[in-house]
Amino acid sequence: MSPRDTDNRPVIQAEEILAGIKRWVEIESPSHDAGAVNRMADEVERDLRRLGAKIARTPGTDGYGDILTARTPWGGDGPGILVLSHIDTVHPIGMIREALKWRREGDKVYGPGIYDMKGGAYLAFYAYQHLVRQGKQTTLPITFMFVPEEEIGSPSSRHAIEQAALANKYVLVTEPAREGGKIVTSRKGVGRFVLHAKGKPAHAGARHEDGRSAIREIARQVLRIEEMTDYARGITTNAGLISGGTGVNVVPAECTAEIDLRVPDPRTAEEMVDWFLKLEPIGPDVEVKVEGGMNRPPYQKDAGIAALFEKAQAIYREIGKDLKDVPLTGGGSDGNFTAALGIPTLDGLGADGKGAHAAYEQIYYSSLVPRTYLCTRLLETLD
Ligand SMILES: [Zn+2]
Repeated sequence: MSPRDTDNRPVIQAEEILAGIKRWVEIESPSHDAGAVNRMADEVERDLRRLGAKIARTPGTDGYGDILTARTPWGGDGPGILVLSHIDTVHPIGMIREALKWRREGDKVYGPGIYDMKGGAYLAFYAYQHLVRQGKQTTLPITFMFVPEEEIGSPSSRHAIEQAALANKYVLVTEPAREGGKIVTSRKGVGRFVLHAKGKPAHAGARHEDGRSAIREIARQVLRIEEMTDYARGITTNAGLISGGTGVNVVPAECTAEIDLRVPDPRTAEEMVDWFLKLEPIGPDVEVKVEGGMNRPPYQKDAGIAALFEKAQAIYREIGKDLKDVPLTGGGSDGNFTAALGIPTLDGLGADGKGAHAAYEQIYYSSLVPRTYLCTRLLETLD
């Protein structure tokens, strides 16, 4: 049974959406636990089969879960709309019984991955279900793709995402909405680098002068790297992980640092990657090796994206709402891959809320109906 209004037409109903989100959230699915992610994929697959979707499941590689794809039975084989979601979360198994117990407090609903992004993924599924209940078929075929490891940069699914994007006219990404329901039309590019310094080990007391400290070298490199942060240009660098040394009384011979880079556009990406790969040792008698590059290309709001955004704004006006987009955000998503290929991409179409990746992750109940409406009408009207 589906919720219906007095004229017996199916309606988008918040309680029903929330019940579905709860069911998906309760299947915890951390990116590194392929079995858990696949249990989640099983549930999503069952839901989609009920709607008559054509399912394809690509077995996971590199220890990650499967990639699940579902296509509407209508619309033929031509290019259509790709709806991109991820079904992994950053939260370890057990959060649902601890800090992120499922609960609703007024407009706030809590749960692991509810905001990033099981809420959004479910909204898109519900939008499809709503079309089916109304007996409607969209002009364009719709392909739903559920990715198993977005939270660690989609290493095993990137190729499939890009192939799917190239086979479609539009990409809708169901990542969380921002700051009062804003959507995302641009994202910075993300780079990752590993710096490895090699010095000379020595007894820290007896032969100190013979040693060349790899930790000291990395410390100086990190200062130099972090000085490249330039908020005005939209460049940030962050040394997020460091490891090195073998004992407190040993001059350390090895040290490694992992660096995160964010850049606003392809030219800056090229400039910064070049800068990183040319890093030279600062101290004497040490070696420095740099590996890495761009992980996600910059996602820029081009004319195609601006036009798609205007369509979304017009849909929101149908329900008396004003849709805005956020200024260039530093967070990457799979939308970076699709937008960089020139496929008009709208992102941040999921539920509004806050606390992605945090122990207070939540969505706003009041956003469920408008966001589902937006998604449904985008699917219905894009041509
Ligand atoms: Zn996400």
